[in-house]
Amino acid sequence: MKFIKHYIIILFSLISLFSCQLNNDLNNNKPDIVTTIFPLYDFTKQITKDKVNVELVLPPGVEPHSFEPKPRSIFEIRKADLFIYTGDFLEVWALNIIDVLDSDKVINTSTNVTLIHNHEHIDPHIWIDPENAKIMVDNILNSLIKIDPENKTFYEENASDYKAQLEELNLCYQDLFANVKHKTIIFGGHYVFGYLSEKYNIKYVSPYKGYSPDTLPTPRNIQNLIKLINNTGQNTVFYEEIINSDVAEVIAKETKAKLLPLNGAGNVSKSIIKNNLTYLDIMYQNIERLKEGLGYNE
Ligand SMILES: [Zn+2]
Repeated sequence: MKFIKHYIIILFSLISLFSCQLNNDLNNNKPDIVTTIFPLYDFTKQITKDKVNVELVLPPGVEPHSFEPKPRSIFEIRKADLFIYTGDFLEVWALNIIDVLDSDKVINTSTNVTLIHNHEHIDPHIWIDPENAKIMVDNILNSLIKIDPENKTFYEENASDYKAQLEELNLCYQDLFANVKHKTIIFGGHYVFGYLSEKYNIKYVSPYKGYSPDTLPTPRNIQNLIKLINNTGQNTVFYEEIINSDVAEVIAKETKAKLLPLNGAGNVSKSIIKNNLTYLDIMYQNIERLKEGLGYNE
């Protein structure tokens, strides 16, 4: 009896060992997709579920503007079946790598997106607008079905479900900005939310010049913002959740304003990845904070 029990245990271990290897082999047959920043990683996962291997190049907490890839990341991008990036104005570091890749393997998700220009600068944070997010999803979908036509219907259905969720987000933003008391987002971080301002006709001010956090704001710009807060009587300063919030803290201290975080999702923390939070989770969290900070009337 004891012998049989042992025999069964060994047999089961062998079976599970074999099926583990089988799973690994199956994994290796899936297309490998490398994405640069979190929204692209999440959009791709929403469309593909478990049909592909998706990698995120940017480590948690790292700014996409000033990122330098390690040789290992470059190697992974080169051997991937698809490389997905935001556009030529965000991941400047990727342009050299893309030059030597087969163009069928590269997705520039900003294709067909209307870019915002401001004083010769181009705002690269396109994913902030849910309508842009839908265009980005379509760009990803179109290339995906070329490399994996077998799962075409599956991808199309998921993309269509996801775009319906993005439309709900769009309606939620419309309702938010139509019903807030204060029509200005005062932001102590770099210029991430310009696409919200453009689309929903709300003012958005940041002391940073240009669209990158690398050039710190001048004391004069900070002073102007403090004046604006004192003049409008607005009592909330939003700060950038991941990046150093010194500038927002100085402004809040000078004006006695309350500080609330906003997350641009271009750069996410370890806990967001660990807790499997999505782009939509982050955007809805922002909406709650905007409601609180701008005075939302139900
Ligand atoms: Zn940025």
